[in-house]
This record gives sequence, C-alpha cells and structure tokens, in this order.
Amino acid sequence: MSDVPRYPVPEDFKKKTLIDNERYKSMYDASINNPDEFWSEQARQFLTWQKPWTQVTRSDLRKGKVEWFIDGKLNVSVNCIDRHLPARANQVAIIWEGDNPAEDKHITYAELHREVNKLANALRARGVKKGDRVCIYMPMIPEATYAMLACTRIGAVHSIVFGGFSPDALKDRIQNAGCEVLITADEGLRGGKRVPLKKNADAALAHCPEVHTNIVVRRTGGDVVWNDAKDVWYHELVAQQAEFCEPEIVDAEDPLFILYTSGSTGKPKGVLHTTGGYLLQAAMTHKYVFDYQEGDVYWCTADVGWVTGHSYIVYGPLANGATTLMFEGVPTWPDASRCWQVVDKHKVNIFYTAPTAIRALMGAGDDWVTKTSRASLRVLGTVGEPINPEAWQWFYRVVGDNRCPIVDTWWQTETGAHMLAPLPGAIDLKPGSATVPFFGVEPVLVDAEGNEVQGAGEGNLCIKRAWPSQIRSVYGDHQRCIDTYYSTYPGYYFTGDGARRDEDGYYWITGRVDDVLNVSGHRMGTAEVESALVLHESVAEAAVVGYPHDIKGQGIYAYVTLMDGTEPDDNLKKELVALCVREIGAIAKPDVIQWAPGLPKTRSGKIMRRILRKIAANELDSLGDTTTLADPAVVDDLIANRHGR
Ligand code: ATP
Ligand code: MG
Repeated sequence: MSDVPRYPVPEDFKKKTLIDNERYKSMYDASINNPDEFWSEQARQFLTWQKPWTQVTRSDLRKGKVEWFIDGKLNVSVNCIDRHLPARANQVAIIWEGDNPAEDKHITYAELHREVNKLANALRARGVKKGDRVCIYMPMIPEATYAMLACTRIGAVHSIVFGGFSPDALKDRIQNAGCEVLITADEGLRGGKRVPLKKNADAALAHCPEVHTNIVVRRTGGDVVWNDAKDVWYHELVAQQAEFCEPEIVDAEDPLFILYTSGSTGKPKGVLHTTGGYLLQAAMTHKYVFDYQEGDVYWCTADVGWVTGHSYIVYGPLANGATTLMFEGVPTWPDASRCWQVVDKHKVNIFYTAPTAIRALMGAGDDWVTKTSRASLRVLGTVGEPINPEAWQWFYRVVGDNRCPIVDTWWQTETGAHMLAPLPGAIDLKPGSATVPFFGVEPVLVDAEGNEVQGAGEGNLCIKRAWPSQIRSVYGDHQRCIDTYYSTYPGYYFTGDGARRDEDGYYWITGRVDDVLNVSGHRMGTAEVESALVLHESVAEAAVVGYPHDIKGQGIYAYVTLMDGTEPDDNLKKELVALCVREIGAIAKPDVIQWAPGLPKTRSGKIMRRILRKIAANELDSLGDTTTLADPAVVDDLIANRHGR
C-alpha cells in the first residue's frame, strides 16, 4: 500500500518530546532483550513501593498464568495521591466540567487526599475490608474517582458498572462479583437529561440481598425512594470521618478491580486486574503515549465505567501527578461545539476520544470546530475501534489544524493499557494504523494453523509474551479465561482481533476475527470496506457484515448512515459500490446497501456487528444478548427496513 499517506513527526514537536525515534528504538530493544532489567527500572521510576519485588515476572501463557513484581508491596492511593503532596498539594488534580456548561470544579491533590481518606474511613466503618468487592454505579462526578481511590486505600476491589446500564445489567454484575456495598447517586445528568441511577439501583438491589449498604451521592437533588435499612447519604457518611485513613499495603498481585467488558461480542466477562503491573503500565503509557509533560492539562472523554476511564482518566494520570479533566456530559450537547469549547475554557493540551465521537462530530459539519481556537492542543488520541482514514484526516486537519499528532491506541479491557500506539515524538503516522508496539509488547500474527506469519502479511493478532497490565483471570471462572485467551493458539495470548502488518512493521487492525469477511475465498476486514464507504462525502458512518451467499459463500451487506441533511437515492448506492471497487477491488463490492439512520452500538459507542450479521442473514429470532445495546429502537428500525422485506 504505497499510496498510504505518511505524517512525519512535526519538527516543532520533535524538539520538545519525551521520547524521540532513537530513544523509542533503544528502549523497545531493551524491553525485549533485557526485560527484567527494563521493567525493574521502570517500576522503580514510576511507582513508590513499600517493599520491592523479589522477582520481576513469573508467567506461563500456556497455562494462562501471569504474575509481576512478585512479593512487591504498595498501595495505589498512596501512589496516586500521598506521594505527590510534598510538591503538588495545591496543584489541580481533577478539573471537573459539568454537563451544564456553567458548572465546573477544580480539585487539588490536597483536596483529593482529604475526600478519598474520608470515604475510605467510611467504607471501613461499614465493614469493608481488604479483598471485599464494592460496586460503583455513578455519573461522571468527582465522587466516582473518590470511590475508586477509597477502595484502593483499604485494599477493596472495585467493580464499576457504567451508569447507562439497566437495572438488570447492574444486578448481574453485582451478583457475579459478589459485591456487598454499592456506591451510586440520586440521579445522573447527561445532555440535559436526568438518569435515574438510584431508581435503577433499587430495582437491581431487590435481587441482591447480600448488599447491606448503598451509599448515595446527592447530585441533582431529585426525588428518591429511601430504604433506611441500607441507604445512606454520601455527604452524611463522610462528614463524620477523620481526614486520614491508614493505607492498606497490598501485594503487587492482589486484585485491584474487576471490570466487565462492553459486550460487543457476547456475554460480558469480569476481567480481573491486579495492582502493581497494572498501575505501572497505566502510568507509563499515559506519560509516553500522550507525551504528558509537567503542567499539561489532559482530557480523556471516556466514562469511568470503561477501562479507558480507569487507566486514562484516573490511574495513569494521577499516578503521574497530572491534571486530568473529567467531563460529565456528552460531546454533542448543548451543541456539537461542546468539546472544543471545553478545550478552550480549560486550555486542554491533550485530547483523547473515540472514533464514534469523531464520526458524529464530523457528520455535524466543520463550523462547530472552526469557530473555536483550540490553540492549546498538542496531542490528539483515539481508542475503541479502528478509525477510518477519512475520520482520522478530519480529526487531524480540522480539529488539530495539521499541527497535532494523533495517537491511535489499540488495546483492550484485558490488556489494561495501550499495546499498539505511536509515541507522538517518535513514530511517523499513517491514518488508520495503530502503528507499532509499546515497550515490552511483542505482537505476532498467526495463521489459522497457529503458525507465525513473517514480514508483511495478515493474520490473527496474538501477543507472545506476558506484559505487566495483562488480565489475570475472568472473575470467578479462570477456565473461561484460559478458554477465551489462551487455548486457540497455545503459548500465545489471543486478542480476538485480526490485523495486517505492512512492510514498515506497522499494524493495521482489520476488525474482530469473528467479523472477517470471506467473499469467494478472499478474506477482508470489515474495517477496510467501511473505510472505503466513509470516503464518500455523503457518508457519516458505515458498518459492514457478511451474509450467506449461494455463489460467493459470503456476500457483503453494508449498513450506511448518511451525513445530516443528505437524502438517500439509488444513484448514491451506485456511487458507493463504485467507490469500494475503486478503493479495494471488485471483490469488495457490497451486494446490499441498507440506509441506516442509526447503527446498533454498545454503550461505549462501538458498532455491534454480530447483531447486524443476524439481521442481514434474516435470523431475527436469535439476535443474542442485546442487554448492552445503547438504543434498542435502532435495531427495530433496521429490521423493519431490512433489504428484501
Ligand atoms: P467484548 O470483549 O465484551 O466483546 P469489547 O471488545 O468491545 O467487548 P473493549 O475491551 O472495550 O471491549 O474493546 C477492545 C476492542 O476494541 C479491541 O479488541 C478492538 O477490537 C477494538 N479496538 C480498541 N481500540 C482500537 C483501535 N485503536 N483500533 C482498532 N480497534 C480497536
Ligand atoms: Mg473484547
């Protein structure tokens, strides 16, 4: 693919970067050739340990066994707060931007310390101790961060359930993790609408007799039904607590949190992460991948209910003593200019978001962006799905004014931290590629027989050696962990994603392996066909799946969302087909194009192709688990307008 544009590191950027190309190469080589030495040095540099480790790692991917920093002892809240106090007590740790543009708050490290310690004492007073699981079901308010860190203060294990999930989904996760305490709020506020969190929690708790305490933050002051037996107001509870809580020093391999994956591919799994390795890689990647430097204001738009929020709103930034922005609202409210207004208001330097948000903002038009300054921006980032080159270029040109490198970060809930990503001062960019591995990460492509593909080629993306922030288990079901990640290709961690490696060694995620198209024996990634469709100026978003086809084995079924204000017609369909043929070849010609006003997405904004596959195949009574859908009505519309009806 010689026609792929390449974006070299801007000269100005090179002058001030933490890691240039030479240093990336030497550090990467050291991480692969002398891993024990490399990781020991990083662990000493990034974290404060109560007791050092006796062995760096003891891992065996054949058995799904992973351990790091054996016998090392530390406390996460001490690393994220206490140790920064001598230098940063009055530095802002969290900038909170409310849903309402008139509302914001600045929380210093000293205040963060006080709030976290009081809540930790309150949890202890309610009988929570090391190893106990605490469920957090919260809006994006500072108390969500306090709750996470308060758990770590006393060695409790948190399990955050995204505030957009239903009572049923919440109940399943509370039960699966065996939580006995819940922390929630009266209501959330998103895009000017109230989310009835307490009401949902009440419905879930009716089926969770083990939960003895429900701590409720008063966010909106909306009406709630009160149950004296378990409900307690957050502000009343913490008011009585001392401002210091003795931290529980835990083992590097003690559990830190459980997080259920978003459910793009099936029944959610409780991914278990432990303490030392996770915190180290979250901190390292936050610093190096975003080129985070002293004084930078950093904003990740994710929700703390997703792993991106865990690693890149809370743990990575706070471990580094950074200023992290936490946003309660949504990118399109009050209007599509909101993100850039917030960037200007708080002088944000680093902005990290998801392709789904970028495509939505691109669909709304450039004016929303260009009327703002954005002069503070230095680095942009994306995560969550392959980003179509068209959306990448828009982000680069319109949002970043051709000045800010974009770090396309490929990773998973299970990997805990970035795995493939360009360090912005070191790696030339290619739109649509997550580029090269982070330190210590050894990606390989394996074919269907489990043989490694050498050089440029395509295959199943696997990781060949253990990394510190790796999944340790599926909570309560280690066999499921082994079956899912370690059995398909013994000796490797299998990601479930397909990828291509080009002649420069750059990786291109082609989509989930389950989604790969096989048309007349030609294998193609859904991402490639979707990116071709999105090139058309009238297309905002596209999702492509295979469906059974008598002659070709699989045909290509494309669901296409048009830009605001565009009318669909048959001529446009012809243009789209021609575009796929021109960009990829005749084999990529969609057999069916269905106009889709909306696409089924998970609550983190990812397209759920498994449901689209069922609709395309007309298997409407076996849509599978739809509980993690953001908007079930979208599916009804797609079924009603299914091609061939
Ligand atoms: P589930 O595992 O429950 O189906 P999920 O895989 O969507 O849900 P996450 O762990 O949040 O849950 O997402 C990880 C997946 O997201 C990756 O395996 C990959 O398919 C996709 N992904 C994440 N970042 C990128 C990226 N930068 N480029 C391409 N794909 C990405
Ligand atoms: Mg996954």
